[in-house]
Amino acid sequence: NRKITLHSRPVGAPVPDNFRLVESAIPVPTKGQVLLRNLFLSLDPYMRGRMSDAKSYAAPVEIGAVMLGATVSQVEVSHHPDFKAGELVLAYAGWQDFAVSDGVGLIKLAGMDHPSLALGALGMPGFTAYMGLLDIGQPKAGETVVVAAASGAVGSMVGQIAKLKGCRVVGIAGGADKCRSVVEELGFDACIDHRSPDLKKLLDQACPNGIDVYFENVGGAVFDAVLPLLNTGARIPLCGLIAHYNDTALPPGPDRLGLLTRTILTKRLKVQGFIIFDDYGHRYPEFFSQMSTWIKEGKIKFREDIVDGLENAPQAFIGLLEGKNFGKLIVRI
Ligand code: NDP
Repeated sequence: NRKITLHSRPVGAPVPDNFRLVESAIPVPTKGQVLLRNLFLSLDPYMRGRMSDAKSYAAPVEIGAVMLGATVSQVEVSHHPDFKAGELVLAYAGWQDFAVSDGVGLIKLAGMDHPSLALGALGMPGFTAYMGLLDIGQPKAGETVVVAAASGAVGSMVGQIAKLKGCRVVGIAGGADKCRSVVEELGFDACIDHRSPDLKKLLDQACPNGIDVYFENVGGAVFDAVLPLLNTGARIPLCGLIAHYNDTALPPGPDRLGLLTRTILTKRLKVQGFIIFDDYGHRYPEFFSQMSTWIKEGKIKFREDIVDGLENAPQAFIGLLEGKNFGKLIVRI
């Protein structure tokens, strides 16, 4: 059983040496347990937070422990009355080939044509997009919605759902290829490259009526470009701040907190953070049913970035924080 463990905590950006590939015997399930063979592993930005022992909303991975993560797994051996060998389940089995489970939290994936979708469009990232946009963002037809990390797992869903609600949708993504795909394949109205020195000007031009909903995945320079364009009464679902996950200190420069709070006050902005399953877990069935329908009808498209081999997970994860992934990042174990 190959496992990837946390060898040391990163200072700044994670590096390969923060991880170790270790081998151990395949665990043996006892009565009431199943042995899972992990087929697909989801790599997600929140894992950077779990590598750190700074106080957060969830406990860190301990040094020497297996990196955690959601998996699509096959029941290899079952000593549990509710599961049969061969069944596919959504599990939280981590960065390893096999894991033993007592069945708690396993979700059966019977009948799914494309099981890895349970990690992306039909899973945690899609759910995050759906609730953050619709419940916090409250988009109305004709409004302008801007979403950062627009080609990624969450952002690509946010923009497509906003289009279904009749909004003008502007994405922000890294590089010409991602921007082209966001417009041509996903149907956004425009997409701006955040690496362009003209980010602010281009965003202004793409949002002639200002911004009514800004779905925040990134922070940093992207939020800086968005802030002056926000309309009175704009909503900001604050989902992620990936540009800051590797920060070790506050950036130098003038203190602009006063500008931010003044803008929130005078523009009467609603800024709301959320942690998807903590805040909305009870609405997962509603999301799953709606999103499955949209996908079947071809109204929502998805793109997966599949990396082969568990041993490549650390490098793929490091790349996720640098924008190397193009679509939902998944390791095929
Ligand atoms: P993505 O698939 O979007 O991958 C991450 C992307 O972030 C990269 O591809 C890159 O895209 C972009 N990025 C990385 N660094 C920067 C930077 N410095 N500036 C601008 N863009 C950057 O990831 P997810 O869709 O899984 O996650 C998106 C966000 O949502 C993350 O912040 C994540 O933490 C958050 N999230 C929050 C949840 C919650 O419950 N609150 C749940 C799930 C996700 P590009 O090349 O376009 O720059």
